[in-house]
Amino acid sequence: CLILAIETSCDETSAAVVKNGNEILSNVVATQIDIHKRFGGVVPEVASRLHVEQITLVIEEAMKQAQVEYEDLAAVAVTEGPGLVGALLIGVNAAKAIAFAHGLPLIGVHHIAGHIYANQLVQPLQYPLLALVVSGGHTELVYMKEDGVFEVIGETRDDAAGEAYDKVARTLKLPYPGGPHIDRLAQEGNATIPFPRAWLEEGSYDFSFSGLKSAVINYMHNAEQRGEAVSPADVAASFQESVIEVIVSKTIQAAKEYDVKQVLLAGGVAANKGLRATLQEEMNALNNIELVIPPLSLCTDNAAMIGAAAFIRLKQGKLGNLALNGNPGLDLENM
Ligand code: ATP
Ligand code: MG
Ligand code: FE
Repeated sequence: CLILAIETSCDETSAAVVKNGNEILSNVVATQIDIHKRFGGVVPEVASRLHVEQITLVIEEAMKQAQVEYEDLAAVAVTEGPGLVGALLIGVNAAKAIAFAHGLPLIGVHHIAGHIYANQLVQPLQYPLLALVVSGGHTELVYMKEDGVFEVIGETRDDAAGEAYDKVARTLKLPYPGGPHIDRLAQEGNATIPFPRAWLEEGSYDFSFSGLKSAVINYMHNAEQRGEAVSPADVAASFQESVIEVIVSKTIQAAKEYDVKQVLLAGGVAANKGLRATLQEEMNALNNIELVIPPLSLCTDNAAMIGAAAFIRLKQGKLGNLALNGNPGLDLENM
């Protein structure tokens, strides 16, 4: 069962061919980062225009690398939302055109379901499971008792983890996107600055990063006012420790409470070396719960993860039609 998948929700134009939801035949990603870098973040209108320029080439390249023809495909899948509406529309319209022209079923996929199912490209999923989703726009703990059923048991009340990384990076005058730069700096520094930890109410699986972000900004501002030297590496290490301590500890607590078989790591921030190492270490202490972490290329946005999630929707008969539209506010639980 071959699925052509398309992803254009933000600043990566991507197309992939995935076999049986777990085998990547091709996964082509054209990133726009170098262009958005100049503006310090993603400019939606620019993103849409670049997707228009790239989409056909990227799809053709994905088909070529996979060595398949349109008549070999079982379906076309596309990210329906959430994301930038103008960006989503490019992928959605490309997918609809291919579905119409070749008489193929069309499958709309939730972007976060894609990040979670990236793990299915690594190894078979076992339910019930818990997914820690940490990306540019989301920080969520998602409980899945079976395939295709998502229950959000905790989420951020303000910034997403990736957003906090990118804002703190900007304060440290690092280029966009800042996550990987903070990650690298953090390895060189010591976590000596006592930034706050947002534990929230007892038993809550929600997150909050805006207080931490403000604490870092204030720390830098105060140092500048007093003419004191700061160690950017120590700031990065201290910030990262605060983020990781909270998300890892809540993940472990939820994994025990919900008695899951697997914990999955998902989203762009899952590429973080410190997070991967700490989660691995803490999970080693738990018997009977398996940790699945995707390779770096499957953590950030890519179409293969959309193809993996689409396979389940195809199996479950959850098909779209030509009325499918980009939906920036698409709900994961009620899709
Ligand atoms: P969403 O998936 O929520 O819609 P998005 O698609 O924009 O948002 P992703 O592409 O999943 O987000 O992830 C991008 C984010 O991941 C950015 O904020 C980036 O800084 C962060 N990131 C990437 N690599 C790392 C890293 N090594 N450490 C920390 N953060 C990272
Ligand atoms: Mg991106
Ligand atoms: Fe994403």
